[in-house]
Amino acid sequence: MISFSLGKENYRMIIDYHIHLERGPFSEEWFKKFWEKAKENGIEEIGISEHGHRFEEFKPIYKDLPRASSWCDSNLEEYITFLSNLRKKYPIKIGVEMDYLPDKEDEIKRLLLKYNIFDYVIGSIHWLNHGFGFDIDPNDPKWEKESESIFLDYFERLELAIKSELFDIIGHIDLVKLWGHKLPKNIIEIYKNLAKIIKDRNISIEINTSGLRRPVNEIYPSPTFLEILAPFNIPLTFGSDAHNPEDVGNKVREFYKVVKNLGFERISIFSRRVPYYMNL
Ligand SMILES: [Zn+2]
Ligand SMILES: [Zn+2]
Repeated sequence: MISFSLGKENYRMIIDYHIHLERGPFSEEWFKKFWEKAKENGIEEIGISEHGHRFEEFKPIYKDLPRASSWCDSNLEEYITFLSNLRKKYPIKIGVEMDYLPDKEDEIKRLLLKYNIFDYVIGSIHWLNHGFGFDIDPNDPKWEKESESIFLDYFERLELAIKSELFDIIGHIDLVKLWGHKLPKNIIEIYKNLAKIIKDRNISIEINTSGLRRPVNEIYPSPTFLEILAPFNIPLTFGSDAHNPEDVGNKVREFYKVVKNLGFERISIFSRRVPYYMNL
């Protein structure tokens, strides 16, 4: 993958690259509600990142996950055409949030090559061993019995997702904490190991503010994880993970300052899967 830096003199840009329109139609009227809120929160460029599980074209990835497979009912071409038309009037990037499933790496790779139409691809973990969708139900009995192994399963998959080099951005990197369960004892070791693996690859990490709207009430990555990541000069993107207009750009500007103070230096602006690095 090619990339280059524009140097010290370039200006920073306020972005929200993690937005879902899935609760409404592909219509300008619905989109405008998101854009109005984005402007209100000082966002200069927004990226729409519908879930891979929304599209019928990506159904082969979900063949072992009946629930997600049943969600694949939108048309990718319609999505791209819709956003390409909006782009004539608004500063939009066309993204997608793909699920990482270790046994579907080849399928994900094949489909991303076939539909090579995105500005960026966010890789996220929503599904664990035995098709467990850990972010769906906080009262799932698995949480009470196996929370430690859920965390370990999650971080193991995360490591594989980073190493797969299928994605441009890792989404909500410690999402597994969302319900506020106790972290595993070796969590600092896990973070340190991940930081090194991320550093060796051409991948950006997302500052995702949606954790502040969840029971855990904490940013992804957590403040502790951010401190461990900061010295590695890893490029960042920002995302509110809004599914409703009122959440767009939520706390994004605030966290530009927070991560800059921690020592992060770069953000990634994507076009056709090539990052342009700007100063934070
Ligand atoms: Zn997600
Ligand atoms: Zn999302």
